[in-house]
Amino acid sequence: MTHNHYDTIILGGGLAGLTLSLQLKKQNPNIKVLVLEKRDDAAPDAAHKVGESTVELATHYLREVLGLKDYLDKYQLPKHGLRFFFSPKHKTTIHKRVELGPKVLLPVPSHQLDRGVLENDLVTFSRKAGNQVVLGAKVDNVDIANENHTVTYSVNGEQASATSRWVVDASGRASILKRKFGFAQPHAHDCNSAWFRVDWKIDIDTWSDDAKWHSHVEPGLRYLSTVHLMDAGYWVWIIPLVGDKTSVGIVADPNIHPFDTYNKLDKALAWIEQWEPQLAKELKAKTDADGNILDFKVMKHFAHSSGELFHTDRWTVTGESGLFADPFYSPGSDFISMANTWTADLIQRDLKGEDIFFRTKFYSEVLKALFDNWMPIYTGQYPMWGSTQVMVAKIFWDWGAYWSINTLLFINNGLTDLDLMRQMTAGPKSLLQKYGELSKQMQLLFKDAMPYDTADITNRYTDPFDLDFLRKFQEDIVEKEYSTQEMLDKLFSNLGVLEHVAAETFRLFSNLAHGTEMDIDVDPYTMSLNGDRQIQSVNSKLVPRDAHIANEMKAMWLYEEAVSV
Ligand SMILES: Cc1cc2nc3c(=O)[nH]c(=O)nc-3n(C[C@H](O)[C@H](O)[C@H](O)COP(=O)(O)OP(=O)(O)OC[C@H]3O[C@@H](n4cnc5c(N)ncnc54)[C@H](O)[C@@H]3O)c2cc1C
Repeated sequence: MTHNHYDTIILGGGLAGLTLSLQLKKQNPNIKVLVLEKRDDAAPDAAHKVGESTVELATHYLREVLGLKDYLDKYQLPKHGLRFFFSPKHKTTIHKRVELGPKVLLPVPSHQLDRGVLENDLVTFSRKAGNQVVLGAKVDNVDIANENHTVTYSVNGEQASATSRWVVDASGRASILKRKFGFAQPHAHDCNSAWFRVDWKIDIDTWSDDAKWHSHVEPGLRYLSTVHLMDAGYWVWIIPLVGDKTSVGIVADPNIHPFDTYNKLDKALAWIEQWEPQLAKELKAKTDADGNILDFKVMKHFAHSSGELFHTDRWTVTGESGLFADPFYSPGSDFISMANTWTADLIQRDLKGEDIFFRTKFYSEVLKALFDNWMPIYTGQYPMWGSTQVMVAKIFWDWGAYWSINTLLFINNGLTDLDLMRQMTAGPKSLLQKYGELSKQMQLLFKDAMPYDTADITNRYTDPFDLDFLRKFQEDIVEKEYSTQEMLDKLFSNLGVLEHVAAETFRLFSNLAHGTEMDIDVDPYTMSLNGDRQIQSVNSKLVPRDAHIANEMKAMWLYEEAVSV
C-alpha cells in the first residue's frame, strides 16, 4: 500500500476540486496537494456535466484569480450575457416575445464552458503546476484526526492511503464528508431538472426573419447568450458550446410541471413540443436529418444546504458537496469561487502558523448568510417565471444586487478582509443585514405583484445596460486599490442606489395594482404591496423619489402609462 503525506488532500477532481488545486499552487508554489478523482478516463466533450454558463463573479475567478484568461479565450466560447424570452402567449413567434438581454458586447467577459473539455484541461494544468492528480482514485474513507487526517482510496482495485493536514471535500453530490458526519441539510426550494446535449448549433437568430427583431442585437451575439425560454413554473436553457454543439435543459417547479412529465428523453421532447414549440421544431427537424442527441440526464430536487462548511478541525466542503441553490442566473460556479477562496485562505494561513479558529467560524457564517440571502430569489418564485413585467423588474433587481454587492466584494478580495467583513456583518444595521432585508422585501414584492401583471405584452426589447445605474454597476466590476473603508463606503453607496431602485419598483407596482401616485415616499424595508404584512425593521426609512433613477427605470417598465416623472 502506497502512503504519502500532503498539506491538502482534495476529494474529487471536478470543477471545484481542480480549480482549488490550481488556486492553492498559485498562492504557494511549495504547497503539496493531492487530488483524488474517481473518473478513470478523459471526460467526454460536450456531454459531461452541467455548469456550462458562467457569470461575472466566477468568470473573474477563472480568468484572473486562476490566470486562465488566455486559455478560456482560445478554447471555450465567449458568452454574451443571459437572455430571456417572455410573453407566454406568443411562443410560436420568437420576435413577438418580450426579450431581455444585452444588445452590444459587454464590458465584463464571461464564458460558455464545455465541462468535459475544461475538466480534462484543468487536470493537465493542475499537474503542470506541480499537484498530484490521480484519476481512477475512488475515496473509500476519511479519518479526521488531531494531527493528520488519513484518506483511504482505491485505484484499479488496489488500496492506498495518504495523510494530510487538510482535507477538502469537493466530491459534488457524492458529498463524502456530509454523509460521513451527517450534516446534510435539505432545502425547501423544490425544483427539478432534465437536460441533454445535441451535436449541432442551435442559433435562435434563425427562428425568425423579422428585420426589426434582428436589428435589436448585433449579429452573432444572440447565439452566444445563455437563452432562457420562460413560462409559469419553468425555464428552458439553450447554451452554445464549442464545436457547434448545444446544451438544452428544462428546470421546473413540480407543482406546475411534474417531474414525470419530462424525466425521460421521449417525454422531455414531448414536453418541449407542448411548452416551447419553436425549440421543438428545431429539435425535430435536426434529429430527423441525422442530428444526434448526445446524452440525457436528470436531477430531482437539486437545491441543498449544508450544516458545515469550513471546520476548525481543518477540513472544508466546497462546490456541490456543500451548497447548491438553483441554476437560474448560473450561480453554481460563483459559489465554488467563493468557497474555494475562503478554503484556500484558511489553508495558507494555517500553514504559515496563524491561528485561524475565528476566521474559520466567521467564513462559515458569512457564506451561509450569503446563501440564505440568495435563496428567496428562487424559493417559491417559479410560478412568476411566466409573468412578463414582474420578471423583467425582478431580473433587473437581482442583477443590480448581484453586481453591486456580491461581485464587487469578491473581485476586490473583500471576502478575506476580516476587518471589512466584520464591519459589514456586525449588528442589525450592518450592510449584510440591510442587504438581506432589502432582498427579502423585493422578492415578496414581486410575489405580491404577480396577480396584477395580467397584460399580454409583446414585441418589446429591453436591455439592462440602457439603465445607467446597472451599466455603472457592471462597469465597476474591476479590481481597484480600495482601502477597507473605501470598499465599505462604496458598498453602502451601492446599497443606497438599491434602496432607490427598490422604492421606485414598489411605486410602479403599487401604481399598477392600486393606482397610487408615483411621487409617494416609500420605506423599502417595510413596504407591502397589499398592506397585509406588518414588518418591523431598525433600518426603516422613507425614501423620496429620485427623478434620475425613476427616469431610467422607464426602460424596464412595459406598462408605460404609469411612468410620469
Ligand atoms: C440543472 C443544473 C444546471 C446547472 N447549470 C449551471 C450553470 O449554467 N452554471 C454554473 O456555474 N453552474 C451550474 N450548475 C451547477 C454546477 O453544475 C455545479 O456547481 C458544479 O458542477 C459543481 O462542481 P463540483 O466540482 O462541486 O462537483 P462535480 O463537478 O460533480 O465534481 C465532483 C467530482 O467528485 C468525484 N467524486 C465523487 N465521489 C468520489 C469519490 N468517492 N472518490 C473520488 N472522487 C469522487 C466525481 O467523479 C466528480 O468528478 C448547474 C447545476 C444543475 C443541477
